[in-house]
Amino acid sequence: MADILTLEKNKDMKIVAPWTKDQIRSLNAWQRREDFHPFTCGKCDIVVPLFATTQGWECQSLLCDYTQDWAHGFMAAPFEDDILKDNDS
Ligand SMILES: [Zn+2]
Repeated sequence: MADILTLEKNKDMKIVAPWTKDQIRSLNAWQRREDFHPFTCGKCDIVVPLFATTQGWECQSLLCDYTQDWAHGFMAAPFEDDILKDNDS
């Protein structure tokens, strides 16, 4: 059972790639949320949100090779809306 202390601890936890398919789904769902500032590219001059792959974040620009291998632990936790929305079975 998750208590407040556990949640607070997990909030600060970082997860490092490689990530599972379920983690990637949750991470990319967070990137689409409008109430949460997405991870963005550290190299592009314009603001480009990153997308999650098994190997970590990648810039969406085809001309850019920026990657990032960590995310906040809470971003990988599934949440109801996106489980329903992204469930393709
Ligand atoms: Zn970039």
